[in-house]
Amino acid sequence: MSSALKSAEQSIAPANNLDAFWMPFTANRQFKSRPRLLVGAKDMHYRNAEGDEILDATAGLWCVNAGHSRPKIVEAVQKQIAELDYAPAFQMGHPKAFELAARVAAMMPGNLDRIFFTNSGSESVDTALKVAIAYHRARGEGTRTRLIGRERGYHGVGFGGISVGGIVKNRMFFGSLLNGVDHLPHTHDREKQAYSRGCPEWGAHLADELERIVTLHDASTIAAVIVEPVAGSTGVLMPPKGYLEKLRAICDKHGILLIFDEVITGFGRLGAPTATEYFGVTPDIVTMAKGLTNGVIPMGCVAFDSKIYDAFMDGPENVIELFHGYTYSGHPMAAAAGLATLDTYKEEGLFERAAELAPYWEEAVHALKGEPHVIDLRNLGLIGAIELESIPGKPTARAFDAFLKAYEKGLLIRTTGDIIALSPPLIISKAQIDQVFETLRGVLRAVD
Ligand code: PMP
Repeated sequence: MSSALKSAEQSIAPANNLDAFWMPFTANRQFKSRPRLLVGAKDMHYRNAEGDEILDATAGLWCVNAGHSRPKIVEAVQKQIAELDYAPAFQMGHPKAFELAARVAAMMPGNLDRIFFTNSGSESVDTALKVAIAYHRARGEGTRTRLIGRERGYHGVGFGGISVGGIVKNRMFFGSLLNGVDHLPHTHDREKQAYSRGCPEWGAHLADELERIVTLHDASTIAAVIVEPVAGSTGVLMPPKGYLEKLRAICDKHGILLIFDEVITGFGRLGAPTATEYFGVTPDIVTMAKGLTNGVIPMGCVAFDSKIYDAFMDGPENVIELFHGYTYSGHPMAAAAGLATLDTYKEEGLFERAAELAPYWEEAVHALKGEPHVIDLRNLGLIGAIELESIPGKPTARAFDAFLKAYEKGLLIRTTGDIIALSPPLIISKAQIDQVFETLRGVLRAVD
């Protein structure tokens, strides 16, 4: 076959040729031997290539907070692409990006009212870390370059994010990472916190480790501390009561910026606009993504305290203040999706709805106590975690089996290690909550 013909043939390769796509965070060989292809979605359900309805108990990947294919968002995106498809992000602008920034700023507590747009959670994290370092330098404190993350933290996959993150496999294959990073201990203790409802009572003192790190390096070398208020991807770990307050106080004492990574907790997951508001602890920087656009167009953002923005606004007026940004920062399509998403949250009262459903959800999660393999249950807002006892020598196997069995029964869950993580769209009904947990009960009884 001539090479021209061959390439023509390749370009019409059948949809069931799954070789070319190197899938992220996926067991590629397993998937390609038994693919799970989604072809449609509406409200609480996906539809797969076999025509089955799949109840979405994970809001996609913690992002589709308003449910799937919501008409207002679909319409806004369709209208936007016909009107203004793209506008240069540097030295030019378009109204919707400013409008969305103002809407997000209005949603944030305190002075977190300067919004920088990115395309993902990972980019939001790298933006936050870079700006934290540059902020100190702009104020004449250029020695403050060290960053402090936390064990079992997940902050995306950029070099900054994996350096401050605390997941061994996300770090160990990728070289020496960033210099000058320390980690706080994670806050989870299986025995002392077992079956906690909401935030555990035990563990606030773990924030004092920050004082030890400050003593070791001196505050004058430390730029920022980054934590997820609720750690999602590493097993759904709620902050011990009083822990975030302590971190805030220690950062204040030493002039260290506090960053909350709210990529999963932003936009209603806890029954409040943000975890910042839910916990009443205000950091200097908040990273977000996912729920900002309901997942329909990639977009993230970083909310900065206005003191940070102001520190960059000192020089000559016609000189670029911050040498950082993305071709697609504030993209018109994403901005349109974001505005329609925020409208949907507001019109349907979805954050309040999540708060109202949270007690029902909590009961449903904890009703799984005593089911086979279950060693812990956790919940907060519309987040749930079911921790399973691992099969010796085969960590992750049991939860992955549960994931496959749940999918066969028409339920989408997510697993991390041997932990099942649940985070449904905020439009879920009580009957659908019952369905999620009834299905899971059957699944737990069926896994090895
Ligand atoms: N930070 C946190 C807390 C996250 O949960 C995630 C994604 N799950 C990220 C950052 C990275 O986001 P993205 O995958 O959009 O880069």
